[in-house]
Amino acid sequence: MSAGALRLERVTRRYDTGRAAVSGLTLEVDRGELVALVGASGSGKSTTLRMAAGYETPDEGRVLLDDRDITALPPQKRGFGMVFQHYALFPHMSVVENVAFGLEARGVKKAERLTRARAALASVGLGDKSQRPVQALSGGEQQRVALARALVIEPPVLLLDEPLSNLDPTLRESTRDELRQMLRRLHVTALFVTHDQEDAFAIADRVALLRDGELLQVGSPEDLYHRPGSRAVAEFIGRASLLPARDDGTDALVRAGERELRVPVVRQDRNEATARGGAGRGAAKPAEPMVVLRPESLEFAPADSAEGWRGTVLSRRFAGGITVYRVELEGGAEVEVTSWDGAVGAGENVVVKVGRGPVAMVLE
Ligand code: ADP
Ligand code: MG
Repeated sequence: MSAGALRLERVTRRYDTGRAAVSGLTLEVDRGELVALVGASGSGKSTTLRMAAGYETPDEGRVLLDDRDITALPPQKRGFGMVFQHYALFPHMSVVENVAFGLEARGVKKAERLTRARAALASVGLGDKSQRPVQALSGGEQQRVALARALVIEPPVLLLDEPLSNLDPTLRESTRDELRQMLRRLHVTALFVTHDQEDAFAIADRVALLRDGELLQVGSPEDLYHRPGSRAVAEFIGRASLLPARDDGTDALVRAGERELRVPVVRQDRNEATARGGAGRGAAKPAEPMVVLRPESLEFAPADSAEGWRGTVLSRRFAGGITVYRVELEGGAEVEVTSWDGAVGAGENVVVKVGRGPVAMVLE
């Protein structure tokens, strides 16, 4: 397969509204890499994907394929594979006909169309179902037909827009795993749009987080989770309580009520990976450091321990194995604590400490 490297360079797209749906976004997808573009609804994910595909022309910036400027190239000349939430398969056609269809438009002869369509179906594990009517397949299988249809043209880049959103939750997880395995095995360059952070984490090599048309951070799932570059990233990715801290240059000093504790922290380099957001925006007030406390990084300490913040359990939720406690610390901050001990009741006084890191420090 002819995988290429895709680069969006400072692309901006304004619709008639004037407000930029995507603003100065730079993103690279290396050859054979899987990048997930994640963000809330309306954050500009589909607009970004459409600019990559050529259905939307950026008002500013460039789109590059293997260092070639393709900004002005129409979609069919780019030849990218597309998979959408609604697969838009032709219901009256068989599975193999659906997959071969795109080759017809490209002038490929019938015998070769069928050979290539069967090969694409085999690559997504549907080799034995090629003659079936497409409607006789399950939702997950139809999604694989859509994938085969996108792959049969041997695209340099595959673009997927919420490809799992149409699937019910039970099917979704297995389809997600299959999708990941197939994309890896086939060594496809793929940009994958989802509003679901779990999907992004499960599939992607790198995750790009978009908010209001701006890229907040790009990195591995572990980077975004453990080393968020800003408060906005920390709050979007996973569950977190953010507490104000003092930075003594080495550790964070975090106060809740009377007790101030020393917390070792990891800091995000202010490098290119951190695009915008958080620190510096507006720059009206000096940036205030905050620690990002994840539920699994906190634990209960013995009641007489001085090595923790004092608090009161507000509520508890059994999560199968672990229990998640919502705790109000002295001073009023709320945190979540996970524990294997499910026997702590609402209203009980507890002591909470950082059990395992890394704990990230971000700037407000
Ligand atoms: P997402 O895919 O993340 O949900 P979109 O890229 O679809 O976000 O939309 C980003 C913003 O641009 C939204 O505010 C949306 O309303 C607006 N938008 C999207 N498409 C159009 C369009 N064709 N015309 C005008 N505004 C649009
Ligand atoms: Mg969208």
